[in-house]
Amino acid sequence: MQIKKKHIIQGLIEVFIILTIISTFIYMANGESIFVIIKKSRKYKTKKECHSNISEIYSRAEIYYMDLKEMPKEIEVEELVNKGYLEKKRSKCPSKGTYSIEINVEKKYVDTVWCSEHASPFDRWSVKEKELCFSNIDAIEKAIELYNKEQKEKIPPLAHYNNTSVFTELYQKGYLTEIPRCLGNGEYSNILSENNTVKCSKHGEPSAKTND
Ligand SMILES: [Zn+2]
Ligand SMILES: [Zn+2]
Repeated sequence: MQIKKKHIIQGLIEVFIILTIISTFIYMANGESIFVIIKKSRKYKTKKECHSNISEIYSRAEIYYMDLKEMPKEIEVEELVNKGYLEKKRSKCPSKGTYSIEINVEKKYVDTVWCSEHASPFDRWSVKEKELCFSNIDAIEKAIELYNKEQKEKIPPLAHYNNTSVFTELYQKGYLTEIPRCLGNGEYSNILSENNTVKCSKHGEPSAKTND
């Protein structure tokens, strides 16, 4: 009995040593720890799953839209489920994002479907993504302007690395209604000498700004 126990412990130690060696090799090869790699691949998997839901929702929404006699201005994902056009499990983002169906009312077609967490796999999504990003920029600029007017201390400049604390401060004091996030994974920054203009690393700054 005693010997058996000893063997098990020895075995466990060996397994532990082997795992440590393997993960060290992976770390050295990728410059990332095994945990980061696992986390990243899980994130990639959920995004893939979400985007496959989006494609399904899009094609179902198109059918539903055609079947309706009166073209609505908006369609909710819930509606597709309730009317039997979409399986319930395809209506939920694995990361609890919210799906929105956009309709081109003028041209009468389902324009795009997107997720609040994972954006959209469609090319035409890029227009919407930029629009949402610029509306974030607008909100950030207004918030900073008002904050600097009302508070004793001015808000520090936005840089890629400290945005979270700046946005949290603006949000907690009620200058922002939500923490802004670019759905294209762009980062917001501004240069104080340039009139407090906020830019996105992916989308640049709203062109309307250059006109005034
Ligand atoms: Zn999603
Ligand atoms: Zn952006």
